[in-house]
Amino acid sequence: SAKTAGKARTEIYKRETHRRAQSQFHLETELRRAVERDDLELHYQPIIDLKTMKLKGFEALTRWVHKDKGFVSPAEFIPLAEETGVIVDLGRWAMRTACSQIRSWIDTYGEEKAVPVNVNVSGIQFARDDVAAMIRETIEEFGIRGEMIRIELTESAIMANPTRISEVLTEIRKLGVKVALDDFGTGYSSLNYLHQFPIDIIKIDRSFIAQLRKGNELYKILTMISQLANSLGHEVVAEGIEDIEHQGMLRDMNFQFVQGFYYSKPLPAKDAGDLHSGNVPWIKS
Ligand code: C2E
Ligand code: MG
Ligand code: MG
Ligand code: MG
Repeated sequence: SAKTAGKARTEIYKRETHRRAQSQFHLETELRRAVERDDLELHYQPIIDLKTMKLKGFEALTRWVHKDKGFVSPAEFIPLAEETGVIVDLGRWAMRTACSQIRSWIDTYGEEKAVPVNVNVSGIQFARDDVAAMIRETIEEFGIRGEMIRIELTESAIMANPTRISEVLTEIRKLGVKVALDDFGTGYSSLNYLHQFPIDIIKIDRSFIAQLRKGNELYKILTMISQLANSLGHEVVAEGIEDIEHQGMLRDMNFQFVQGFYYSKPLPAKDAGDLHSGNVPWIKS
């Protein structure tokens, strides 16, 4: 009957939900363990100065290779870490790992060759951790200047608690740490943040670069954003540069900093270290 069929469906649904909850729970436990055991890795994606084509800095991106599942995308484990609170320890781990790496690059290549590293910070970290103290303690521990670290946070992270986050960012900037607004343009009220928020850098989300065509509406908007950012004294970084056409358009629009697969994928620490020697492998002949 329809009633039994309905009941059976409900049973299947319950079982399926239960199974999914359980596998999420497993993944959460394993992620927590991976953070504790230092089983994660940071990869470093070059950020390039379009004027000089020199290395400007790196963005640190967390990588997790699970023993059975293999590579797990941050698009999967970062939201999980945020939902479960693991992001607090993961975020601390990322900051320590980046600072320790900078220390070792300074020791190997010298202070003048070392470039700043951007670390992504989740809105949940601001809610559940003293991010300013965490950064101060970590840079002190590794004896690096605040100028060597930049944090990236998204508009949605700011939205969660604008007043408090603004205060914390002010604290963080006193350390010499610069603040980048990540995925710019994908949230709300961007214009509002642009003049109110203690930020130094704007990162244009790669979804916009993908839709960019010479002379289209988006092209006009990004031209305006580039001018606006320049006149406000903010640096602008365009993310997701995948080909030479993108590069040409961004150059025409006066963008100074770029990041994307056209130049380099995020690299393991060893390969990122090799770039300090001053060679610029992304210049294609
Ligand atoms: P995001 O901060 O916007 O980082 C840029 C993402 O774009 C990275 O993805 C990078 O690999 C990818 N990307 C860079 N250039 C290109 C390109 O030319 N084409 C394409 N298709 N993609 C490009 P990834 O590493 O998968 O990270 C995804 C997101 O996960 C990051 O976006 C960030 O929001 C988050 N995430 C990664 N690591 C961390 C972390 O340690 N802490 C926090 N809170 N979030 C992190
Ligand atoms: Mg980022
Ligand atoms: Mg981004
Ligand atoms: Mg993004």
